[in-house]
Amino acid sequence: MRRFFFLALSVAMIMAGLNSSLQAQKPAHHWAIVLHGGAGVIERAHMKPETEAAYRKALGEGLAAGAAVLDRGGSSLDAVEAVIRRFEDDPLFNAGRGAVFTAEGRNELDAAIMDGSSLMAGAVAGVTRTKHPITLARAVMEKSPHVMLEGAGADAFAQKEGLEMVPPSYFFTERRWQSLVRELKKEGLPIPQRPAGVPPAPAKPVAEIDAPGAHKFGTVGVVALDKAGNIAAGTSTGGLTAKQWGRVGDSPIIGAGTYASNKSCAVSGTGTGEFFIRLGVAREVCNLVYFRKMPLQKAADEVIHGELTALKGDGGVIAIAPDGQMAWSFNTPGMYRARQAEGGKPIVSIYSDEP
Ligand code: ASP
Repeated sequence: MRRFFFLALSVAMIMAGLNSSLQAQKPAHHWAIVLHGGAGVIERAHMKPETEAAYRKALGEGLAAGAAVLDRGGSSLDAVEAVIRRFEDDPLFNAGRGAVFTAEGRNELDAAIMDGSSLMAGAVAGVTRTKHPITLARAVMEKSPHVMLEGAGADAFAQKEGLEMVPPSYFFTERRWQSLVRELKKEGLPIPQRPAGVPPAPAKPVAEIDAPGAHKFGTVGVVALDKAGNIAAGTSTGGLTAKQWGRVGDSPIIGAGTYASNKSCAVSGTGTGEFFIRLGVAREVCNLVYFRKMPLQKAADEVIHGELTALKGDGGVIAIAPDGQMAWSFNTPGMYRARQAEGGKPIVSIYSDEP
């Protein structure tokens, strides 16, 4: 009888222990993720069906990759970095391989990442040899005492950290080169020589993937909420076609194109960076949430359709809050974008008449 009593007692204790450890593991939050692949004059009437399909596929796969990281309990920072690395490898997007060219015929890449739980941030501008600028931005955040590195110094830090380095010609794509040539002709600027180490010019121009005259950005950005309740934001870009004199846009500027704080929200922007810098767009959205207690969508709309539009700026943002609110807002005809919350369906959209 006594033996039975002790056996029953220990079984009960094990069950109680199991129960409380299960409770301890129960996630505090449902994960969520929102991403963009750039905003601009992206119109159904001018989009080739195969181009549209390629973008939808890439956005959907990027979303699934980020969702998988979050679903297995990965951090929002890991999800942001994983999705952006994919897009940096994909020549469809203006980030990493497939980035736009400067007027001098170079690819100068900008990226930033921010951790909403600690307000730690890392950014790089004008890198030319680091394969994944978003991973370099994260290394700046985690392994250097600084927030922002630029140019050759940033590439040297990447090399020191053992990140994957590539020759500048790795980022070259014929499509972006031809966009540069068209833009320089329009602006009456000299056309630089083709970069060293790239294939010779094709006999026939490559088919324009964008509608003639289409103006769009193609920068990539991700905001995510993980099961621990932490949010993060990241953005990566080649900037604007034919940018000059070491121009840096908003994407790597903390508070302008990228921002995250667990107290308010995480934001990534895309558009003409000069306006986003002047307005401090990403931080502005979070300030409206924090100080004015605005719902996230309202705050994003206020900044994009109110302040940005009033300044005659163009572009959009994606945003997420620690309570799971997700938002996007843009004043251009389209924005490549996708979102998903735990237990919900993935949404992939391009045009402004889509959800
Ligand atoms: N915001 C980026 C920049 O100005 C461009 C973009 O969104 O595509 O550099």
